[in-house]
Amino acid sequence: MKVAWIGLGSNQGDCRAVLRRASALLARLPNTQLRAVSPIYQTAPWGNTDQPDFLNAVAKIATDLSPRDLLEALLDIELQLGRERVGPRWGPRLIDLDLLVYEGANLDEPDLTVPHPRMHQRAFVLVPLADLSPDLLVEGQGRVSALLEALDVAELEAVRPAQDLPSCASFDFKRSDQ
Ligand code: ATP
Ligand code: CA
Ligand code: CA
Repeated sequence: MKVAWIGLGSNQGDCRAVLRRASALLARLPNTQLRAVSPIYQTAPWGNTDQPDFLNAVAKIATDLSPRDLLEALLDIELQLGRERVGPRWGPRLIDLDLLVYEGANLDEPDLTVPHPRMHQRAFVLVPLADLSPDLLVEGQGRVSALLEALDVAELEAVRPAQDLPSCASFDFKRSDQ
């Protein structure tokens, strides 16, 4: 099995429930185990700032799916949860699942780039990723802890623990490989 890290984001609907359901669907993917989910963070929107705050988290999985099959599965989960691909780039969405890192994969294809090419600029990705895997070396970008240190203070201040929300990590995961 290969280890992979998935970024989760939502700023529409019941965001907390959406993240929990997305985690549950990740856990049920074929030949896949959900290993950990970070705490949830409330984050100011990135790229297109005129929209509600997001809730963000990162999940760590182990899988026998290829990077491409995993991407297809992530897009399928987005559809199952009701994401409609309308509106501006980086606009509001019910659920966004990005493949951040896939162990040993370095891909640059029209519809799949791994590691995710913008993750090193994003505190809302690096903060929860560092909760799970601070020593992870992101191919072509650097170590997660170092990427985090390189971010602006303003970027980091836009990411706050969602303290009044229960952590996704407390979710009762079902393992799909049994
Ligand atoms: P960003 O990629 O900057 O976070 P986004 O998440 O808003 O932007 P989407 O509209 O969700 O972008 O996705 C557009 C397409 O990006 C997807 O259909 C997918 O083919 C492609 N894509 C390329 N690399 C990845 C990746 N590592 N993870 C998820 N999608 C990817
Ligand atoms: Ca994204
Ligand atoms: Ca996406």
